[in-house]
Amino acid sequence: MPLAKPVTPTRVFMGRLAHGDDLLEALVRICGAQGITAGRVDAIGAVRMARLAFYDQAEREYRYFELDRPLEITKLMGNISLRDGRPMVHAHVTLSDRDGSAFGGHLAEGTIVFACEYVIEAFAGADFVREYDVATGLALWT
Ligand code: ZN
Repeated sequence: MPLAKPVTPTRVFMGRLAHGDDLLEALVRICGAQGITAGRVDAIGAVRMARLAFYDQAEREYRYFELDRPLEITKLMGNISLRDGRPMVHAHVTLSDRDGSAFGGHLAEGTIVFACEYVIEAFAGADFVREYDVATGLALWT
């Protein structure tokens, strides 16, 4: 059975990250500061460099890679839930270069903001807690 639990949008935060922020860490910090334990996030902007990951399904581990150059954030989308009692932002991002070529993946720490505008929507209602999933090797919602 697919998992489906109702949530209610409660608060929306719109803002800008600081030049030089770590993109993922900054989003997590906002969630911690605002007490957000469930929600969603989207953002656009640009990064000085990116560190992304691809989940190797056969080996069951993330393969990290770096794009060490300026890129546009054409789309960041993600969700917010709890892992080990703390807010976790799970985000995927598509980035583009000066030719319009796009790259994408699972956003990892080490992606450095040039400029970034975000919207975070907080939800109330059901708990979303990540725990180890035997079938995938990932920390998924239970
Ligand atoms: Zn992911």
